[in-house]
Amino acid sequence: QAKQQGRSGYAFFSSDMREQAESRMRLLKDLRIAQQEHQFCLYYQPIISLKTQKIEKAEALIRWQHPEKGLIRPDEFIPLAEETQLIHKMGEFIFTSACDTLRKVKDSGKHMQLSINVSPVQFTSKHCYLSKWHKQLQTLNLNAQDIVIEITEGLMMNAQPRTQKRLTTLTAQGFALALDDFGTGYSSLAYLKQMDTDYIKIDKRFVDGIADNQDDLALCEAMIMMAHQLGLQVIAEGIETYEQHELLLQAGCDFGQGYYYAKPMPQEALLTLLTDN
Ligand code: C2E
Ligand code: MG
Ligand code: MG
Ligand code: MG
Repeated sequence: QAKQQGRSGYAFFSSDMREQAESRMRLLKDLRIAQQEHQFCLYYQPIISLKTQKIEKAEALIRWQHPEKGLIRPDEFIPLAEETQLIHKMGEFIFTSACDTLRKVKDSGKHMQLSINVSPVQFTSKHCYLSKWHKQLQTLNLNAQDIVIEITEGLMMNAQPRTQKRLTTLTAQGFALALDDFGTGYSSLAYLKQMDTDYIKIDKRFVDGIADNQDDLALCEAMIMMAHQLGLQVIAEGIETYEQHELLLQAGCDFGQGYYYAKPMPQEALLTLLTDN
């Protein structure tokens, strides 16, 4: 500490920036290796119907099993994967893995809708692998309706015509669409109808406070009411307590996801959970 303070502000800053750049380079190198050595996998978090408390859907969430650092969360590597275009290969892996899980669910005689997060960058690729997804599903005898594509409001901000077109194609093919982290970005309302949205996902930031803060509860109630008026269903994220579950149920929310019900889990654990669902 004393040593750092003794340095000139300039020197301190530049060594800090160099450290940042170096750690970014290390992460990028590791990320490339991870892709070659298949260190990624999907975890699945159940989404339950608030009324019946049965699992009706799940969200696929990517994890990186780093050989030294252990399980790494997506917030730590998705941004870099997006900047470096590694997200495209990753996105194909995510889709293929999700299909594999859906196929296994079907084979066990169950039904479930599976959500995948699709990065805005994936919509901008020159060769459009998104257009192959529909065929890929047909090969496996799966329906596009079984997949929910989760996008964030940011996708439509300054979207190129290509992005809009690809999104329209996907929904026309039958893929369901969810607007993730609803209410945290901008212009969400304008895009709700323009896109063929099926679900809005109320962000955890709103759910967190509902048991002790009237305003948060009022915001959730308003979002639920508005969504229903528009013919959309609502998934609340980050439900951690019984009180939050009850309040959202009373507010008419359709689905819930959060540690109160289940944490994200490996494929086998999800399949086991579904057998006594
Ligand atoms: P998201 O899509 O909004 O996913 C929900 C996040 O909330 C997940 O974090 C989940 O583990 C966490 N969560 C769910 N319930 C609770 C709860 O009750 N309490 C708390 N504290 N957290 C809860 P995760 O898995 O770390 O993912 C973070 C974000 O990374 C995701 O936010 C999504 O934007 C992105 N992401 C995850 N997987 C993928 C992926 O396969 N592709 C892309 N492009 N992005 C992904
Ligand atoms: Mg999501
Ligand atoms: Mg639709
Ligand atoms: Mg979210």
